[in-house]
Amino acid sequence: MIPEPPTFDHRNPPMMSCGHAANSEGTPAGGTRGPACAICSEFVVAPAQPNLEGRAAKCAYDNPRSKKVHTDRQRVPSSLSLAFFSWQPDEEFDEYYCGCYGWD
Ligand SMILES: [Zn+2]
Repeated sequence: MIPEPPTFDHRNPPMMSCGHAANSEGTPAGGTRGPACAICSEFVVAPAQPNLEGRAAKCAYDNPRSKKVHTDRQRVPSSLSLAFFSWQPDEEFDEYYCGCYGWD
C-alpha cells in the first residue's frame, strides 16, 4: 500500500480546537483525512491560531508530584512544534513533553 501524503507540515503543526498542537493525522467519521490530536480525538483545527510570542512552555511532568527532576533548561520558548504542545492561555506556562519518561 502506498502511504498517504501528510496533510500538514509536522514541523509546523496547526493548533487544534482542544488546545493541543496537532500531533497526528486521522479521518473523523464521515469526514476527510486531516490533522488530529490523538490525546483528545480532536479533528477540528482551532479557528484562531494562538500568538505564542514571549511565552514559555514547561514539561507537563514538571510538577511537585513528579518523580522526574526538571530544571530550568526544560523551560523553552512556546512552539507548536514541541512534542504534545498544549496552549495554556490562563497559566504562566504552556505545556509540552520533554521526554523525561522516554519516547516509547
Ligand atoms: Zn488535544
